Amino acid sequence: MGIFSKMQGDGYEQVIFCQDQTVGLSAIIVLHDTTLGPALGGVRMWPYNTEDEALHDVMGLARGMTYKNALAGLELGGAKAVIIGDAKCKSKELLKSFARFVDRLQGRYVTAVDVGINSDDIEVIREETKYVVGVREGTGNPSPLTAYGVYQGMLAGVEQVLGSTSLQGLRVAVQGMGHVAESLSELLVRDGAEVTVTDLDAEKLKLAKEKFNATIVEPDAIYSQPCDIFAPCALGGVINSTTVDLLRCKLVAGAANTQLAEKKYAEVLVKKGIVALPDYVINAGGAIAVALERCGTYCQEHAKQKVAGIYNTTNQILRQALEEKISPYLVADRMVETMIANKKAEKLPASF
Ligand code: NAD
Repeated sequence: MGIFSKMQGDGYEQVIFCQDQTVGLSAIIVLHDTTLGPALGGVRMWPYNTEDEALHDVMGLARGMTYKNALAGLELGGAKAVIIGDAKCKSKELLKSFARFVDRLQGRYVTAVDVGINSDDIEVIREETKYVVGVREGTGNPSPLTAYGVYQGMLAGVEQVLGSTSLQGLRVAVQGMGHVAESLSELLVRDGAEVTVTDLDAEKLKLAKEKFNATIVEPDAIYSQPCDIFAPCALGGVINSTTVDLLRCKLVAGAANTQLAEKKYAEVLVKKGIVALPDYVINAGGAIAVALERCGTYCQEHAKQKVAGIYNTTNQILRQALEEKISPYLVADRMVETMIANKKAEKLPASF
């Protein structure tokens, strides 16, 4: 499929290819939709095998940001950027070059951290552009707030799907033990849940064993773990044709963006009796925090209160999904599409 067909399919506004041979930069910035405001979304650095893989990833992530920011009530549009390459090899000059591309968009795109980009990198990026959030004296690392939002969404899911008022005694299979998963596991274990964990990194598994008394499994074995909740907290596309039949959980609730390889898996899960909480609803904690920073109103307590609102949003979406016997993804998608259509209608000139 050509790039314009892909863009038209899901209503993308702009795709920008950024190239700077002097520093080895190949990056893509995708602005999905700016109807609700300037587009906010992090930058990921990842060694994609092909340019198509990178483009597919960044487009899915950018679209997810539109939905995430809208449902979090942020009056922001959605975008995302990827830098193609191994994050271990990134240089300051490469980050600065990327930042200059961001700057040229004059605030239509505001960047932030994502996988492969950390708080120190954000400090380098801000040397070249003011259109960046997650700076040291602002939110810094937003992962604990993201984890808190996932936890709030999980509580709503546990109540409505499992009929339980707490996580006590529940088994959660956590895929990935990165920044968000570590904070999330703290909350889960504190509430009496048992965690089964996988990661590609042996050090992270050691930490999970020591800190959370986690049961450790091989990466491919995480899908088939008998558990109450499967929490994808690594990369996207993990619910796909290979894994969907392996799942032995009742609820899917995790931090990873774009967990469904394709939209159709939301309804496939419904047929299997599994309720998947939309990733872009429950992992909005970090976005909420950095959006407050952008408005100059960030303080941790205020951010935490706002992130706690994810519980109510999840409840509202779940109630409707269970009533209509459709996936929570479909309900959430419809809500955002209505918000965007209403805003577009408001913006039409009076002569229309
Ligand atoms: P991270 O890079 O700190 O952690 C990801 C972990 O997943 C790493 O430990 C990595 O080794 C592991 N991993 C990668 N592939 C794996 C596989 N196939 N099997 C098992 N483990 C694997 O990232 P993070 O900041 O914790 O973010 C995790 C996810 O949540 C990402 O998808 C990110 O986009 C999403 N997310 C993060 C935030 C945030 O505030 N950090 C906000 C919203 C969404």
